[in-house]
Formats: sequence, C-alpha cells, structure tokens
Amino acid sequence: MNKNFLDILERPEVFFELKGKSFCDKSIGNMSWLKAGGSAEYLYIPANEDDLSLILESIYEGVDLNIFGNLSNTLIRDGGLPGLSIIIPKSFSNIASMGDTKLKVGSGTSCKVISEKCLELGIGGMEFLSGIPGSLGGGIFMNAGCFGSEFKDIVVDVDFLTKNGKKIHKKNNEINFLYRKSNISRDLIITSATIQGFLKNSKQIKELIDEINSKRISSQPQGFATGGSTFRNTNDYKAWELIKRSGMSNASFGGASVSNVHNNFLINNGNASANDFEILGNMIIEKVKSELGILLDWEIQIVGKHE
Ligand SMILES: Cc1cc2nc3c(=O)[nH]c(=O)nc-3n(C[C@H](O)[C@H](O)[C@H](O)COP(=O)(O)OP(=O)(O)OC[C@H]3O[C@@H](n4cnc5c(N)ncnc54)[C@H](O)[C@@H]3O)c2cc1C
Repeated sequence: MNKNFLDILERPEVFFELKGKSFCDKSIGNMSWLKAGGSAEYLYIPANEDDLSLILESIYEGVDLNIFGNLSNTLIRDGGLPGLSIIIPKSFSNIASMGDTKLKVGSGTSCKVISEKCLELGIGGMEFLSGIPGSLGGGIFMNAGCFGSEFKDIVVDVDFLTKNGKKIHKKNNEINFLYRKSNISRDLIITSATIQGFLKNSKQIKELIDEINSKRISSQPQGFATGGSTFRNTNDYKAWELIKRSGMSNASFGGASVSNVHNNFLINNGNASANDFEILGNMIIEKVKSELGILLDWEIQIVGKHE
C-alpha cells in the first residue's frame, strides 16, 4: 500500500510549513557506508533546527524515531526501518568561533570539515577528526576517536532537541562518555556542540593530520564499502587481533568478508545484504568466544527489522 507522509503527522496542516525533504519507503541502506540494507518507512531531512523542531512536535506520540548523521557506523537491516528516520544533513554545519580555541559547531558538520577549520584557525587537539568519516552528532553519540583522542576530550557542552522538539543542554560532565559509546538517550537529537582545543602552530597541526591520514591509508581497506571498526576493542585486546587469533581472517558470508588489510573491518564485495554482514559478524563473535573465551561487542549500530 502506498504510504503518505501525512499519516504520521498529528497535525497534517503542518506539512505545508515544513521546509525539509520528506519521503515514504525511501531506500536508506544504500546511503550508508556499508551500502547494504533496506528502506525507511518515513524519512525526513530537515532544513534547519526550527524545521527539525517542528516535525518532532508534529508527529504522533509513539512513532518510532531513528536519527542518523553520515551513516558511517550504521547497519540497517534488510527489512528496513519502521517509523520516522531523520538524517541530520550538511545544512546543520555552521561553525562559529567562540574565542581563540573554542568553536560552536552544527551537528551535521563532518568531522573532516571541523579538522580543516581547526587547521585554518591554529586550534590543536582536533587532528584525530580528519580521518573519521562521521558527523559531529554521530561522533558525540559514539564518542568516536582514534590515535589516542576521542570526542570526550574536546566536547565542552552539547545542545539537543528532545523527541517532542524541546531544546535542552548538557555539559560534558553530564554525559557519560565511554569507550566508543555514550549514555545519550535515543530520545535526544544532538543539534550542535561547543568543542575546545588548544593553540597550536598550523604547521604542526598539518604534520599530525598528514601522519594520521597516511597511517589510515596503509592500515585500512581502500576502495570498498565498509562501516569501519565492526567490534569494540576490549580492555586488553584489539578486536582485529582476536579475529586473527581465532582464525577468522579470511572469513566471508554472501557478499560480505573480513578485510585482509584490517581484520576488524568488514567489507562489501559489491552485493552484500545487511544480513550477510550481520551473519558474518555473529559468526566471528561465536568463533572468538569458542576459541578465546572473549565476547566481542558490536561497535557498528544495527537497526531495523529482518526481512
Ligand atoms: C572507513 C571508516 C573509518 C572509521 N574510522 C573510525 C575511527 O577511527 N574512530 C571511530 O570512532 N569511528 C570510526 N568510524 C566509525 C564512524 O565514522 C564513527 O562512529 C562516526 O562517529 C559515526 O558518525 P555518523 O555521523 O556517520 O553516525 P551514524 O552512523 O549516522 O550514527 C551512529 C550513531 O549515532 C547516532 N547519531 C547520529 N547522529 C546523531 C545526532 N545528531 N543526534 C543523536 N544521535 C545521533 C545514531 O542514532 C547512531 O546510533 C569509521 C567508519 C568508517 C566507515
């Protein structure tokens, strides 16, 4: 049956005030970095924060809500996403200077753009962002990081909209940032954040960015669809080491396989379904558990229904 976006609006007349893009049964898996998975029942791409607030205020209570940034850490199952999915787009990417070393940044800003701005302004401590393909919002939610730095180190405070479209604000110490996760509720949407680094010579910033990028190129698969690290490292071991030691370095299922460049990256050989990725990931979890007695934890966020 053909769906109509008006069906999820408690006040249908609001539809004509919305400035963003609305879709029904929109293929969204192919927008993810894994290039696999199903459709969003309803998808909205807001034009700006007021527009996001308006759609949130207007939908029926109880409609499932999924928020995405650049979809670089997300596996959408083949049966798709019920309810309303919202992608925070690049239009949420204003960057305002708040003094020498502080920036207020919109949540749709890509991590790479933030690192480029910091290079231009001589703000150090943000170089790690240059290689993370996500948005500021996804980076904060995941406490993304690499090469010894993570979002926890740079976030001063975060602005959110609640599921009902109300603004709230939290300081860094009110968010529990853990290793590659946070305790941010799924009912909150990050709209912007203040981040802070320190004064640093631009030449040194550039050198570190170049070093980070050349390490990535030599240690990560290039030219394949992937979601980056599949599992979180444990306290004692890197996930890729455990995968290698368990004998799963060459494992594959359907169109998904373990990258031989970085064993914690799963790659799409061209026609992988989301199910191929999930089954391969679960095969790895079982093998690492049976061979080494260690339980791996998915870092990639798996959402949606099985087909
Ligand atoms: C090639 C590659 C390399 C990578 N390297 C790294 C790395 O070095 N370090 C690292 O930590 N990660 C890495 N990642 C994973 C990924 O880039 C990060 O986790 C990134 O922070 C995800 O951001 P995103 O915008 O793509 O989030 P999405 O995938 O869109 O979402 C991830 C999670 O964040 C939530 N979310 C997104 N935006 C918002 C928002 N505005 N408000 C509330 N919740 C939100 C989503 O609901 C979801 O649960 C890599 C991925 C790839 C593909």
